[in-house]
Amino acid sequence: MLRRDVVDHALARRALLRSIYGGGLFTTTSAYDVCDAGVFLKRAAEAYGVTTARTCPICRKLPLAEVAWVYGDAIGDYAGSARSPAQLEALAAAYPDFSVHEVEVCQGCGWNHLVRSFRTGTPGTSPARRVRRSTG
Ligand SMILES: [Zn+2]
Repeated sequence: MLRRDVVDHALARRALLRSIYGGGLFTTTSAYDVCDAGVFLKRAAEAYGVTTARTCPICRKLPLAEVAWVYGDAIGDYAGSARSPAQLEALAAAYPDFSVHEVEVCQGCGWNHLVRSFRTGTPGTSPARRVRRSTG
């Protein structure tokens, strides 16, 4: 699977964690604010995610899971859904261009953050069509 325009969000993640733990005078971010993974996101991470070797930076109890969300017109109804690594490979082989957002999720405290985003797909394949018409 070819990854294009890869953006690593580690810096933003570090900055956010620093704002939580830094104790700066003007800190407004609390752990409560960032641990907002909803049931939907947690279930998606459980069903489609991959458990990583990283421990949650907030509760420090559970390993983080990474789950991929796919976006883009080219993939039609798949847009906005979570995909397993195998499903992601299949989509990338079948469609020309779409974006992937990999999000880390803690099943315990609900911490979640965008880890990286990129575009993928196979040039030359046809975009999905929301409305299929008979070519009769
Ligand atoms: Zn946690």
